Formats: sequence, C-alpha cells, structure tokens
Amino acid sequence: MAFDYDLFVIGGGSGGVRAARIASAEGGAKVGLAEEYRMGGTCVIRGCVPKKLMVFASGYPSLVEDARAYGWDVTQGGFDWTVFRGKLDAELIRLEAAYRGTLTRAGVTIHDARAVVVDAHTVELSSGARFTAKHILIATGARPFVPEVPGAELAITSNEVFQWKALPRRVLVVGGGYIASEFACILNGLGVDVTQYYRGAQILRGFDDEARGHVAEAMRASGVAIHCGTDVMAMERVADGIQVTATDGHDRCFDAVLYATGRVPNSGGLGLEALGVKLGRQGQVVVDDYSQTAVPSIYAVGDVTDRLNLTPVAIREGQAFAETVFKGKPTTADHELVASAVFTQPELGSVGLSEEAAREAEPIEVYCASFRPMQTLFAGREDRVLMKLIVSQASRKVLGCHIVAPNAGEMIQLAAIAIKMGATKEDFDRTVAVHPTMSEELVTMKTPVRKA
Ligand code: NDP
Repeated sequence: MAFDYDLFVIGGGSGGVRAARIASAEGGAKVGLAEEYRMGGTCVIRGCVPKKLMVFASGYPSLVEDARAYGWDVTQGGFDWTVFRGKLDAELIRLEAAYRGTLTRAGVTIHDARAVVVDAHTVELSSGARFTAKHILIATGARPFVPEVPGAELAITSNEVFQWKALPRRVLVVGGGYIASEFACILNGLGVDVTQYYRGAQILRGFDDEARGHVAEAMRASGVAIHCGTDVMAMERVADGIQVTATDGHDRCFDAVLYATGRVPNSGGLGLEALGVKLGRQGQVVVDDYSQTAVPSIYAVGDVTDRLNLTPVAIREGQAFAETVFKGKPTTADHELVASAVFTQPELGSVGLSEEAAREAEPIEVYCASFRPMQTLFAGREDRVLMKLIVSQASRKVLGCHIVAPNAGEMIQLAAIAIKMGATKEDFDRTVAVHPTMSEELVTMKTPVRKA
C-alpha cells in the first residue's frame, strides 16, 4: 500500500522535531509534521528557554550589589518588565523561525494544524485534510495540571507567566518541584514579593536531602517565604487581589497565584485509546524501550510518555526512534545517569543517586563540603556552596554528585561525563584541581563525612 508519508509526527516540540529531521534528512523518509500552536514546543516557547532568560534577568540585582562591594560606582535601577517581555517575544519568534527553517531544509512538510489519529495509519488535521502514513509518532508533550480547589480558575500556570502585561506585586507559588522553585526564585529576583506553599516537609522531593535543605535555606535567606506542610484550601477574588485560605489556618492576599503542581501528558482527544494504544494511569502513552506503543505503527516520545520529562531526554528518544525505524539501527534511549539542574538561586545540579537512595541500595561513603565561595564572600555575602559525592564502598564508583552553587548546571554537566564513564572516587582524587574555583572541591575531598 502506498502511503502519503513514511512518517507523520504529531507535535513540533523537542522530541518530535528531532525525530522528523533525522527520519527525513538521514533516513530518507517522506515526513509530515503537525503542530497546533507554535513550532518548538514547551521547551522553546513556554519552558526552558524563556525560563532561563528570566533566570538571567532576575540575577542582575545581586550582581549590581556585588559590583558595588567590589568598588564599582553603580546604583540599582528598576526592572522594566515590558522591555524584557518585548525582547523575549522577539527571541521566541527568532527561535521558532529557526526550528521551521531546520525542518523545512531537512525536507519535512509542516502542517500548522491539530492532528488526531483516525486509524493505525491515518491522521486527520483540524483543516479537514487526511493523510496516511506508514508510521505515526505521538510527540504531543504535557501540560500543567491544577488540582481541583475552590477558586482554581483564579490560578495561573507557568504558561501564562510569559504573557504577563506587568509584573504582579505579590505572588503565591504553589508546589515544591522544579517549576515552582525556579519561578519562586525568578520572581523574587525580579523584585516580586514571593510566598511558596508546598504540601510536603521539604521542597524538591526526590533530590538529595542535604541539597534540598541547602537550596531551601538559601531561598529563604534571599527573601522567598517558603511554607512547607502548607497547601491551598480555597481562593477567592477580593478587592485587593486573590484571597487564599491555606491549610496552616492563615488567609493571605496575593495579586497572582501560580500553580506548578506537576504536568499531565497531552494524550487525550487524539483517538489513541480507541485504536488500542495503551495509556497509563496519568494518561501517559505506554511504550516499550524502542518507544513503540501497543499498536505497532504508532510510536511516542517525550513528555507524553512520562518517562524522564526533560528536553534532552525527549531529543534522545526522538533520535533513537528515527535510528531504529528509518536508519535500520535498533536504538534505545538511555535513561540512566541523566544529569539535570534546577535553576533556582543558587542552582542545584544533580546526577545519579541521592544519599538516601544510594544507602538503600548498598553501603556508601559520603563526601561533602559546604563553604562560602570566594566571589560572594569578598562581596560580604553569606551564600554557601555545597559539593557532595556519594561513593560505593564496594566498587568505589561515584554513584551520585550533587552541587548547589552558582552555575551548578554547568558544573554538573561535566561531572556527569566522568560519572557516566564509571569514574571511581580515586579517579576524582587523581584529577588535579583547577585553582581557584568552586568545583575544585570535587577533587579535593579526602575524608568521608559519614559512611552508611
Ligand atoms: P514536579 O513533579 O517537579 O513537581 C510538582 C510539585 O507539585 C511537587 O512539589 C508536588 O508535591 C506538587 N503537587 C502535585 N500535586 C499536587 C496537589 N494536588 N496539590 C498540591 N501540590 C501538588 O512538576 P513540575 O510541574 O515542577 O515540573 C514538571 C516536570 O518538568 C519536572 O518533573 C521536570 O521533569 C520537568 N522540568 C524540568 C526542569 C529542569 O530541568 N530545570 C524545569 C522545569 C520542569 P509532592 O512532591 O508532594 O508530590
């Protein structure tokens, strides 16, 4: 049977774009891709990219303060959100065009429409057009989830932050994960009065406990009012803003309430279940190691599969899919020892096992240093850095590395290479320090602080 396309990709985000490009440019496939919103997906349009630019914007006030401490004659001016927003919008337009250009040059046909799956080899677009395809790739990502609480319609999510016409004065951030903690820091840095409610005992669940504690303490010291063990019971519009009743018995008023309470896969309304594609409890598309669903011609990559919801992982999954199906090289995406960074201030970079997870698995040694780094110490700040290695007593391999520091994201990327290669503590030890740096501490920690 002749198909219109060899591959039809639904979703123009990180995973879908990579798969489409490789299948077309390197696999010689005829590829169509449908995107209902803006090309680039969550990462480019309303996630990693605009978030990181906001992180940069929010870091300048403390830099100006430090510059003064170093002898510069500078004064702190105000922050003009509209100037930043204008530049941000222009940058996103540039990036979106770059994504389109790359796909078009690779020979992919872009359809600016929503697509649904009609049968195992047919998609239908919102324009009414139907196409057949030998393979269909679902790469529709995820969207923010807001729990049902009275007044939930008053809440916004990270999607809306980038659309703000003006910065609110007082913001409540709900949640304790990546997005909540990052936005709490960003907004605080931009001069917003930030309160964060988290239902558990400590923010950033899943990360190393000591590192979480370090980040939370630094966030509090910089002015974020973190309330753990606290959740929203109800929200109500009042003259002065949004009145929030919390489980801690307090009513507080805010100008905006930002929910960052997790994300759910965009798998609904695509016609998948009717075809026999299995969905998990959270709606995630269930796939095997090769990203194949229960329907052999349909594959899925990225956040819609809810494996490891990170852009570089979605890209690897998209690449592995294209290698497998269009280049004759069966490839699985490697989900082991994936480093990530939480762009809080200070940043948290992490790879491998937390101390808590590692000690459940085997006997370990913990190496840890906490100190005031030279640059901010000189400026009179109390900021501390944390460097931590978790080491297997038996194999001597470094099982985990956790860094809380300015630019920890940059540092953990490099440490992750060594750890992915299976470096032992002794490999770290025989690496000569780069002096004076913060990260030299990773190769100079001689004595374990504890064994467990
Ligand atoms: P996370 O899963 O990281 O955090 C969700 C938070 O919301 C948790 O603190 C969770 O609490 C809380 N929560 C969940 N449900 C409720 C509820 N019903 N009521 C109150 N609180 C609730 O999700 P995010 O939305 O922050 O991020 C989604 C994913 O995106 C991340 O897991 C990550 O993979 C990715 N991401 C990565 C970034 C990076 O690499 N820097 C940046 C942003 C996102 P509890 O801990 O108790 O479950």
